[in-house]
Amino acid sequence: MAKKKILAGNWKMHKTIGEAAEFIEELRPKAEGANCSVWIAPPFTALAACVEMAKGSSIAIGAQTMSDLEEGARTGEISVGMIREAGASFVILGHSERRTYFGETNQIIRQKVLRAIASKMPAILCVGETEAERESGDTAKVLSTQINECLEGVSSADLENLVIAYEPVWAIGTGKSATAEMAQQAHEMIQAEAIAQNLPILYGGSVKPSNVNELLSQPSIDGALIGGASLDVESFGEMIHQVQNL
Ligand code: PEP
Repeated sequence: MAKKKILAGNWKMHKTIGEAAEFIEELRPKAEGANCSVWIAPPFTALAACVEMAKGSSIAIGAQTMSDLEEGARTGEISVGMIREAGASFVILGHSERRTYFGETNQIIRQKVLRAIASKMPAILCVGETEAERESGDTAKVLSTQINECLEGVSSADLENLVIAYEPVWAIGTGKSATAEMAQQAHEMIQAEAIAQNLPILYGGSVKPSNVNELLSQPSIDGALIGGASLDVESFGEMIHQVQNL
């Protein structure tokens, strides 16, 4: 039997606690009996409220990032223990916005991956090339470097709770999605890396109700990481419905 696809929503810096709780309440009937796994990553402040609202459903609530340290003098940061206590059951690591605006390098992301593994916190590791890198024919090289540097020293036994998200930077929040063929090719590049060959790979970058079906029909696409289109419960529900009929 084919593995269930994953539809993961990344809300970024959107939704108050009240808005987030209302969303999960409205999402519950849409996710019930879904033929895919439904994951939502709200802002930290709304984590606990979303977990409470999702109780008794199959919706998994996670965090958008975390510190590489267990605790310490890191003003503004949040630890894996803190997100776990708030009920997070996964964490997104290395999102391109973290790399661009917060200076996260592959080395920093690797520390976070190691912390997640040591703490048994399932993680989505994001990788992806910029437009300039794609145009200069460097996509495979960039993906290989990101995968191998972020997972350096990780044993295959530790990969059990890891998911990769292929997110071309030029497709995130731009409305310009990779074609299904481009995404499939990039996923094959990732699968060509020994360390990643058996990991589920999500595609992220302007996924919406009108393209989710075609993208997720590709053999190497195991689900989607969705930003903008996950903010509206009707559009997210429509994507769950589309995956149902794959
Ligand atoms: C994302 O934030 O991971 C993302 C893919 O955003 P969007 O769907 O808006 O492109």
